[in-house]
Amino acid sequence: MNNSPYKGFGTRAIHAGLEPDPGTGAVMTPIYQTSTYAQEAPGKHKGYEYSRTHNPTRKALEANLAAIEGGKYGLAFASGLAAIDTLLKTLNPGDEVISTNDLYGGTYRLFVRVYEKFGLRFHFVPMQQLATIEEKITEKTRLIWVETPTNPMLNVIDIEAVAQLAKSKGILLAVDNTFASPYLQQPLKLGADIVMHSATKYIGGHSDLVMGALVVNDDALAEQLYFLQNAAGAVPGPMDCFLALRGIKTLHVRMQRHCENAEKVARFLRSHPKVEKVYWPGFPDHPGHEIAKKQMRAFGGMISFTIKGDNIEEAFRAVSSFKVFTLAESLGGVESLAGHPATMTHASIPREERLKAGLSDSLIRLSVGLEDADDLINDLKQVLQ
Ligand SMILES: *Cc1c(COP(=O)(O)O)cnc(C)c1O
Repeated sequence: MNNSPYKGFGTRAIHAGLEPDPGTGAVMTPIYQTSTYAQEAPGKHKGYEYSRTHNPTRKALEANLAAIEGGKYGLAFASGLAAIDTLLKTLNPGDEVISTNDLYGGTYRLFVRVYEKFGLRFHFVPMQQLATIEEKITEKTRLIWVETPTNPMLNVIDIEAVAQLAKSKGILLAVDNTFASPYLQQPLKLGADIVMHSATKYIGGHSDLVMGALVVNDDALAEQLYFLQNAAGAVPGPMDCFLALRGIKTLHVRMQRHCENAEKVARFLRSHPKVEKVYWPGFPDHPGHEIAKKQMRAFGGMISFTIKGDNIEEAFRAVSSFKVFTLAESLGGVESLAGHPATMTHASIPREERLKAGLSDSLIRLSVGLEDADDLINDLKQVLQ
């Protein structure tokens, strides 16, 4: 990496891991839409035998993912949850995991409804204070799971501080970096052991694929993960790998505009008389603002807010009357989306757990896209009228 000419983020996003196709010189990585590869004699091949194990399009993407996260090894999966699922398979029955209490609903569902059955134990705690994590550490704790900024409350967790704690106790730290994207935040540099992405979101960036990623530095952990990736087989197809590579080439440019637009929308919402509370880490009075400034390049494209009165019917009416925003699950695409977490992305978390994390029934989440900010603000104006 050190003598690589690909130093800056944009240069790495566009070039790292990619070479003109050796057969034709094609500049863009071809979509190797093949399940198998010809062998000259049994076991005599060009490094490719079967596409669950290796595929050239996936290989280019995996090298690129590692480079943009500043890590050594990248792995691509058929979804973000498949990536988490593969990581959990490195654990053994009886092992314990400490996780943020405010996290993506599907992650919570995988932890509690799938893996508890296999003997893993999960503790969900707010991670703004290290003491609440420390209290749950036992000799069986193997993994700390951090999501920051959190979905949908946009809490910010100090990755470096949690990494120091984890390291001092010999526990691995994994960070779900989906909300920030590798352009805004690089957890491995802050001491995390594993970075996870739902590449469905900002990495893909165009709402046209479902994909997950893991990036790690440790050789032994990487070997274990590649083994499980092949053994369990939740790999993405070559077409999706091509789309992800295409998305990554503009990640840095897209993120800059996502952040600019989100700032304008957040400031507008905050000034609106009908809006109760706006959750966006860029506000100086946001409790995670100083940490966000320290560990992120900018504050991201996600905003949550509540309308005065905390009334679920009013929230439903609002999210159903957008004309530029689309009411839909997911985030991180070029188009702006609005969602109602309590009934959509976070419906799989029990209501009392949601309320404990501050997620009220009337909370609205926005993924601010790349449209003209004035059109987004006018859309919010008409919705709030
Ligand atoms: C969407 C999402 C996931 C799950 O990823 P999929 O690609 O949908 O499987 C995990 N974490 C966060 C923060 C997400 O937004």
